[in-house]
This record gives sequence, C-alpha cells and structure tokens, in this order.
Amino acid sequence: MDVVELVNELMRRAVAARASDVHFEPGPREMRVRFRVDSLLHDAETLPAAIGPNVVARLKVMAGLLTYRTDTPQEGSIPPDPAVVPFDVRVATFPTVRGERVVLRFLALRCELRALDELGFGPELVADIRGLLAQPQGLIIVCGPAGSGKTTTLCAMLSEIQRTSPASSILAIEDPVEIRLEGVTQIEVAPERGLTYGVALRSLLRQDPQVLMIGEVRDADTARLVVEAALTGHLLLTSMHSGSAVEGLVRLREMGLPAYQLTSTVQALLSQRLLRTVCARCGGGAAARGCAGCGGTGYSGRTAIGQLLTMSAGLRRALLSDADVERLSGHDPGRAALRAEARRWVERGRTTEAEVSRVLG
Ligand SMILES: [Zn+2]
Repeated sequence: MDVVELVNELMRRAVAARASDVHFEPGPREMRVRFRVDSLLHDAETLPAAIGPNVVARLKVMAGLLTYRTDTPQEGSIPPDPAVVPFDVRVATFPTVRGERVVLRFLALRCELRALDELGFGPELVADIRGLLAQPQGLIIVCGPAGSGKTTTLCAMLSEIQRTSPASSILAIEDPVEIRLEGVTQIEVAPERGLTYGVALRSLLRQDPQVLMIGEVRDADTARLVVEAALTGHLLLTSMHSGSAVEGLVRLREMGLPAYQLTSTVQALLSQRLLRTVCARCGGGAAARGCAGCGGTGYSGRTAIGQLLTMSAGLRRALLSDADVERLSGHDPGRAALRAEARRWVERGRTTEAEVSRVLG
C-alpha cells in the first residue's frame, strides 16, 4: 500500500472508531499509531520505523506544513475531504530524538454541541446552572482536569444563554474554537501572531459584549482581566485546569487576585468529570468482553458528572479571612458529591465501579 492510501486508511479507521485524537509516535524499531477514544489511548497500528518519515511527510503535505523543516514544531490543519475525513483535522508536529511525532485532532469528534440538560448532570444541578446563567454579571468557572468536558459544558452554557436571551451580545475567545455556535462571535487565539487570551480579551471588551466566554484561565494576566470584566457588569464564563472547585479558587488567589475581588465576582465554580458509559450493544462494562460497536472495550460514549460550589456567606468569610485550603474545603462537598453523582450512574447500570475508580481515584 502506498503512503497516501495508508494515511487515508488510518484516518478513515480513526473516524469509524470515533477517535478524538490520533497519535503517530516514532520509536526505535517502529512507529506506533494510537487512537484516543472516550478519553483513553488505544494501540491502533504499528508501522515499520522506515516508513515513519514518509507518513509524517504525507501528513505535513496534507496540512500545508513545511516538509523540509523537521527540527521545529509546526501546526496546521487538513481541510475536510468527504472520502477521508469529512471535517477539519488539526495537525501538530513535534521533533523528538527518534524523529517527528504527530498528533491529529478531530475537533468535530472531540466535542459536539449539547444542550445543558443533555450533558448528564442531574435535574437539580441543571436548574442551579440555569439560575446562574440568568444573572446579568459575575464569574462562573468550570473546573476539572484535562479531558473532563469543560469546553462542552461552556458551549452548552453559551447556547443556553443564546436560547433564553437571543438579544444579548455574546463573545467567546477559545484555543482553538472546538464547536461552532450560532449567535456567538467566536475568536481563536493565535499566540504566534500576538493574539493571546489577554490581548483578545482587552480589545473585545470594547466590542460591547454582555456575555464573554474565555476558554481557559492559565495565567495571572488573563485571570486579572477576567475578574475586572466581571466587576464591570459582564457575565464571564471560563474554565480552569484544577482538581476541585476549592483548588480553582486557591489558584486564583495564588495568581495574586485579592480575596475581596474573588468574593464579589465569583458566583460559582462547577467541578466536573467525564465517565465512560457502558456499551448499549453488548451491555459491556468491565465484566463483558465487548463487541465491534465499542471496539472491544465494553464502553461507548461518556457522561458528565458535576458539582456546584456557590459563593455562600461562609465561603466568602473564609476567603476574606485568608483561610487555607483545608478550611476552605470545609465549605465544599467536593469529591464526595461527585462520587454520589457517579454512584447514581452505577446504580442505573450505565457505568461501572471500575470506571468510577479510574476517574475519581
Ligand atoms: Zn459493545
């Protein structure tokens, strides 16, 4: 099989497997190809090391990257092709001692637009979130580790606002834009052109927004701008890479934000995780062997579980008195609440104990 057909075939297989990412990893004797499906990486193919560079070169040609540059990271995208992958594929290369490593990201399969009540959250949590989204100003932060569905939740929140108050002006800054949203102006950061979250947010505030979504708060500069925007009458939605809601608050404090600014802007922090759901075709889970529909894993699809920490009077006092993590955690049901949510899914037979321990430890 020639390299062109080999690469096309691997990409078609990845789409059929519902992969969100495809890794091409050069090794001493072989190039390993792995698919990420429902958050876990699975071996998909092993290619002879000798053809590795040809595969990488082919991917670079498809993505319009410089094939002769093998010593520097490059990023690009492969346009949709109905015969191979019918949507955009992001390509990122990275030089390693064994050659270039490539990761393909299938954004359309990484997350899809869902309504707030389709994410998997219980009805009370959905009602609480709807209440928060109806507020004219403040800061709502979605917390969780990488791959916990934070972007999908943020997009569901924006489309909920768009649905309930279609006249509001909604702007979103993302890295990258993963889901196209109707009625929302979306901007993609491009640090190589100087368009960082901070720069984009500063200029967007002059575009008369009412609701702003900032994909992720990663640094003190962005955190400061987000809080300032929330203080001046905007509703801000963002996410943070943190294990719990309290950890998110503590990180903001460590970024130098004064407690009084946090207590007057942060409305709530939503801590969330994704659980793989049992394959409906084979009734899978850990006990069964799986079927073709779930690639033999016993799981197919994922559901979110979440827990909301609102700024209560007690939490406000604790923050203002500079309480440590332990004392702050006293105001947060945290992991226990997530575990209780997860148990509801186990009891209904939709996921397994093994999956809950994998995700919640
Ligand atoms: Zn199955």
